[in-house]
Amino acid sequence: MFFRDFITVGDEVDYEMNKDETGFIFNINTRKNYISRKMPKIRGASYRGERLEQVIAANISKAFIVTSIDEPVFNNKTVDRFLVTCGCCSVNPVLIINKSDLDSKNEIEHWKNFYEKTGYKVIVTSTINTFNISELKNFLSGNVSLFWGQSGVGKSSLLNILFPELKLKTADISRLTSKGTHTTVTSQMFASDENTFIIDTPGVREIEPYGIRKGDLGHYFIEFKNFISDCKFHTCTHEHEPGCAVQSAVADGKISELRYDSYLRMLATIEEDIHF
Ligand code: GDP
Ligand code: ZN
Repeated sequence: MFFRDFITVGDEVDYEMNKDETGFIFNINTRKNYISRKMPKIRGASYRGERLEQVIAANISKAFIVTSIDEPVFNNKTVDRFLVTCGCCSVNPVLIINKSDLDSKNEIEHWKNFYEKTGYKVIVTSTINTFNISELKNFLSGNVSLFWGQSGVGKSSLLNILFPELKLKTADISRLTSKGTHTTVTSQMFASDENTFIIDTPGVREIEPYGIRKGDLGHYFIEFKNFISDCKFHTCTHEHEPGCAVQSAVADGKISELRYDSYLRMLATIEEDIHF
């Protein structure tokens, strides 16, 4: 029995209701996909053995990775970890760069181009001046959309402006609560219309994909794909091996050094003692 066998948000199930409004689920249908990550480390705790898989949600058509250009400052390494995590779960990611009203250094255009060139859809938004909010809303129609990101990037604010009936708590309000932390503790799904579903997730501090082997990581850096098959060794990790086409592509400027640097950092954090 794995954690991934437990029911999760987005699962399609067969169930029976009793007369007293209780009921039971007797089947979970096979998932089209599901998104998961490694269980986060708890500060101060010691770990033995492998870190387990934490399932976030299932049957997702698109994952919107919410970031902000500032407060918290845009971090491409974090973005890459989210993108890889989606990719290895067969979930299609879209990058949102929020808080465009705080773009005093004019960096948004650079990052938008950077990730579009890499091969991702990017939507720049602001909840302060509602920039691109209707464009974003059009993308949601007819899909099961997951909203995922670090705490404080404005995910709740975005969902509130898209769906005012939600009345999600945002940071300013939660600071007034006794716990003073973010308010979403588990993922939750709601229907905007009969074909459009949104999954809101708790803000995360860190993200590590679950179950990637060193030799496979390169496949989830989507622009590496054009080169990987030309590496001399099919087990190439694109780090130090001779005849590596990915390293040559970086040297020739065909793969961005920033993405390659992200790749190397992720590679260094993959533990090889994964059991499936
Ligand atoms: P979450 O943790 O991702 O759900 O973030 P919240 O929605 O709670 O927002 C965190 C803080 O960012 C709040 O103070 C919001 O008012 C602020 N915020 C959200 N969106 C924007 C935006 O587009 N521009 C600016 N300047 N602030 C924003
Ligand atoms: Zn290689």
